[in-house]
Amino acid sequence: MGQSIWKPLVLMFVLILLFDLFYNMVARQGGEQQAEITYSRFREELALDNIRKVTIRGTAIKGEFRKKITLTETVQGKVSSREAATFGTVLPAIDDATLMADLMAKKVELTAISTETSQFATILIYILPWVLIMGIWWLAMRGAKGQGPGAMLGGFAKSGAKMYSSAEKIDVTFEDVAGMENPKQELKEVVEFLKDPKKFQRIGGKVPKGILLVGPPGTGKTLLARAVAGEAGVAFFSISASQFIEMFVGVGASRVRDLFTNAKKAAPSIVFIDELDAVGRSRGAGFGGGHDEREQTLNQLLSEMDGFDPHEEVIVLAATNRPDVLDPALLRPGRFDRHVVIDRPDWRDREQILRVHTRKISLDKDVDLAVIARGTPGMTGADLESLVNEAAILAARENAQAVTMGHLERAKDKILMGGERKMFISEHEKRITAYHEAGHALVAKLLPGTDPVHKVTILPRGMALGVTQQLPEDDRYHYPKTYLLNRLCVALGGRAAERLAFDDISTGAQSDLKMVNDLTEKMVCQWGMSEKIGAMTFSRGEEHPFLGRKLAEEKTFSEEMAWLIDQEISAIIKEAEDKAAGLIAANRAKLDALAAALLEEETLDGKRVDEILAGA
Ligand code: ADP
Ligand code: ZN
Repeated sequence: MGQSIWKPLVLMFVLILLFDLFYNMVARQGGEQQAEITYSRFREELALDNIRKVTIRGTAIKGEFRKKITLTETVQGKVSSREAATFGTVLPAIDDATLMADLMAKKVELTAISTETSQFATILIYILPWVLIMGIWWLAMRGAKGQGPGAMLGGFAKSGAKMYSSAEKIDVTFEDVAGMENPKQELKEVVEFLKDPKKFQRIGGKVPKGILLVGPPGTGKTLLARAVAGEAGVAFFSISASQFIEMFVGVGASRVRDLFTNAKKAAPSIVFIDELDAVGRSRGAGFGGGHDEREQTLNQLLSEMDGFDPHEEVIVLAATNRPDVLDPALLRPGRFDRHVVIDRPDWRDREQILRVHTRKISLDKDVDLAVIARGTPGMTGADLESLVNEAAILAARENAQAVTMGHLERAKDKILMGGERKMFISEHEKRITAYHEAGHALVAKLLPGTDPVHKVTILPRGMALGVTQQLPEDDRYHYPKTYLLNRLCVALGGRAAERLAFDDISTGAQSDLKMVNDLTEKMVCQWGMSEKIGAMTFSRGEEHPFLGRKLAEEKTFSEEMAWLIDQEISAIIKEAEDKAAGLIAANRAKLDALAAALLEEETLDGKRVDEILAGA
């Protein structure tokens, strides 16, 4: 609707302008020969009895001469003269007491016009805003109707639902899905069934109706669902559950019905529901005001799934990254009883994903995708796709023949650390940043078992003035306590270095501190890593399942425990800070060398850091 509302507004504006123009033209009728004259000239002409008519409106005087007068004027150094039959002038602020008498004496035809706004204009001023408001309201309603149930205007609901539930032609196959060997294996069975349902039934195989694809966003759940349809060569119907939730109650349910009706008509087919958690959240969770619409949609979905015949050849795939918040009713046998978990890709899969997405790009022969894959832990397929895209853009911008390793590295940095920022930084600030980053890097180098330092830079990136980037050698699934403690030390190393070098601390460490606090809170409250508190977990520091962020929640532990938790958190942080400060103080020469190199070279890679530390 965003755009459509502006059109009428602009139109109205244009109309008002036109009206104004027209009004002015009428008002100025016959004003062609009108001359703007001074008040004293007017008085002169009046004295000469050359004024036939005068109209006074406020301080504006308009009138007609009895005889045309000749005016001489200078335009761009040229003297020209013209005749004028009418004139305009302005009444001076100082009262001209004799004007009335003089006009009378010369028998001038006199008209006075009221300066009060005409009644018509007054009415217009009162009514116009209302007309505008009602117009906008009407448009808004109409816009909503476009997707609405059509109770008021009719016919819209159907077309809205149809838009989403028409089948798509899919040309994606398992070939296009890199890695994911396990999920593919599990879904092969579904493909077999859809390809030849009769054969499958003869053997007596039981095929699940609903399969839930569980995994973080961007890991290729949609892609996989499409690939299943592509492999089997069947119709693919898809909808995102967040689209169900509309302004009007009843739309979601009617769309679900529509979707399934169409899918059954086109059987064998696949229905794919993205973001299932948007409708499938536990009912009566009371969060978000017990959304009626959502519950109706969910109920409709459940009844559609139950309503299948066992031999109806429709398979429902749904994707979610929050299986834990789903309504248990959805997971019951006969509904989404089969789960396929899709993890973030490990580096071997990442390499394959990169391979898939670089198929159509000309790569330089020095490119080693395995190196990029190893350097991108935690990235999903979607991230890697945008990395390749970013690298291609960089190459195109440089008119390069092919994408090189350098382009890929820069694209990776941009995605991991944010884009480079051009900004002016004073020498002193640069020094502070250099020491800060040198502190992080030094502590990371000195402590055993930390992730290798990949890159240190004092070029501003994203929100940060400098970045120290560590990359794990392989993907990690478990984090030992010692590793986490070391991470705290590394994060606090920046601040410690600033304190040592300048005997002062700056605001630059804010995000470090936030990370340190969050991590320590989790260590104490969720992972039971505090000796004093032991193996207990608390709701503190948990992210809210629906919002993905922390909320003020009901406390399930005593005041004493809350106090103890605070004590433990601050003790752990203090210890880490002392350790970092100690390490840095004991290696002052190395810190100075690193900071100096950073000021000189601005960006150091891991190898260069090693060289500098070895030399200092
Ligand atoms: P999800 O549905 O899990 O949020 P998508 O399926 O929409 O993720 O994935 C987004 C994009 O990421 C896809 O269009 C695809 O190009 C890319 N992608 C993700 N995983 C893979 C993969 N395993 N192989 C190839 N491309 C992938
Ligand atoms: Zn820092």
